Amino acid sequence: MYDRALQALVKLALEPEWEARFEPNSYGFRPGRSCHDAVEAIFKAIRQKPKYVLDADIAKCFDRINHEALLGKLNTFPTMRRQIRAWLKAGVMDSDKLFPTSEGTPQGGVCSPLLANIALHGLENHLRQAFLSSNAPILIRYADDFVLLHTNLAVVHRCQLLIADWLHGIGLELNSSKTRLAHTLIRHETEEPGFNFLGFNVRQYRVGKYQSGKTSHGKLLGFKTRITPSKKNVLLHTEKLRQIIAAHISATQESLIDHLNPVISGWANYYSTVVSSETYSEVDNNLYHQLRAWANRRHPNEDLHSVTRNYWLVNHSGWVFASRKEGSLSTLRLRKHSETQITRHLKVQSTRSPYDGDLIYWSTRMGKHPQLAKRVASLLKAQKGKCNYCGLFFRDGDKIETDHIVPKSLGGKNNYDNFQLLHRHCHDVKTADDLSAVGIQELDVDYLNKNPF
Ligand SMILES: [Zn+2]
Repeated sequence: MYDRALQALVKLALEPEWEARFEPNSYGFRPGRSCHDAVEAIFKAIRQKPKYVLDADIAKCFDRINHEALLGKLNTFPTMRRQIRAWLKAGVMDSDKLFPTSEGTPQGGVCSPLLANIALHGLENHLRQAFLSSNAPILIRYADDFVLLHTNLAVVHRCQLLIADWLHGIGLELNSSKTRLAHTLIRHETEEPGFNFLGFNVRQYRVGKYQSGKTSHGKLLGFKTRITPSKKNVLLHTEKLRQIIAAHISATQESLIDHLNPVISGWANYYSTVVSSETYSEVDNNLYHQLRAWANRRHPNEDLHSVTRNYWLVNHSGWVFASRKEGSLSTLRLRKHSETQITRHLKVQSTRSPYDGDLIYWSTRMGKHPQLAKRVASLLKAQKGKCNYCGLFFRDGDKIETDHIVPKSLGGKNNYDNFQLLHRHCHDVKTADDLSAVGIQELDVDYLNKNPF
């Protein structure tokens, strides 16, 4: 616990300095940036021109980073350097055995992702400087996962050598069996067009003039860029839904819906910024058949019509898997993937960081995060990005919770007008005040918001 707290302090001390230096196309484990920004950066890089892509994998990145190279790059004051070196060399406990760590960053350490980003910092600029600015390749990196894009195959080949050489300097190498060279539009040697990145499939297609994208001057491009959920992730998600249904063979319908809904909305929201409608329908359709089997199995002697009537309702969007028990329909209804609204994600501005002090830019941006629950997003907007208790702007990384303005214990309702967003610590204080006002001792904090900040 002591070490974790200390690592969090070290991260707080180092991060602002490095955030000011980090490269524009590094998106992983950085405040205010997400996978969606990385994917949007790829879209921008190829939408006007198809490109070759080097889809690279660094072999065991986190385990192999050279300690001396990392400490040299950190170039920090002696006390800090000694502490970080001690963590790097501390070793790993596996059951009762201690394994030495002569390379790599501490596994699961609070500041490890930052240390890895520091180790990999400079690669993007290194490549850019090796070429004329008009011919520079684009490197888009998410932690240790990156893609390199360029129209010219020879440039990509040369970059591969430059990358391998640069990585060697910090003790790393490309995993040649997992590194793939392809093209976004055409077949390259034996490789199909397109590539996968962060669970997304990026690919371009030749199309006729009616579907073709246009250049900024209105000229037809003759191709179209499509970013969709990757096949592998669709299969993983379908399998997860299947397992939840299998684990609820004899549970109530309400319990099954309660377990499926967060998985469905989490997955659907992740893909809500790209071309996902077709995939959503396929997954919904597949889920429908699994739920049919689940329901039929529970009532082997009933005819299909009465089983359907027991578990499905009809509303404006067609058939809905919903419980007929008394209570609020919205909580007892299965969410459909296809209800998810598709909204293009606005990429973070190139070298921006939440440490730049532009609190309005960052709090507005937070409300538009694709993985943020709708209610939280609209409250954030209504509150102009500020906590109603302390009046400070919410910042990326803050724990935010939904509070009942009039507590439920005092008859407060579960509706929009009675909700507000507070910092978790402000919420705790407010709830304690609410309760002591009515003489209740026990805290009843509802963690309504399970969003990751
Ligand atoms: Zn607050």
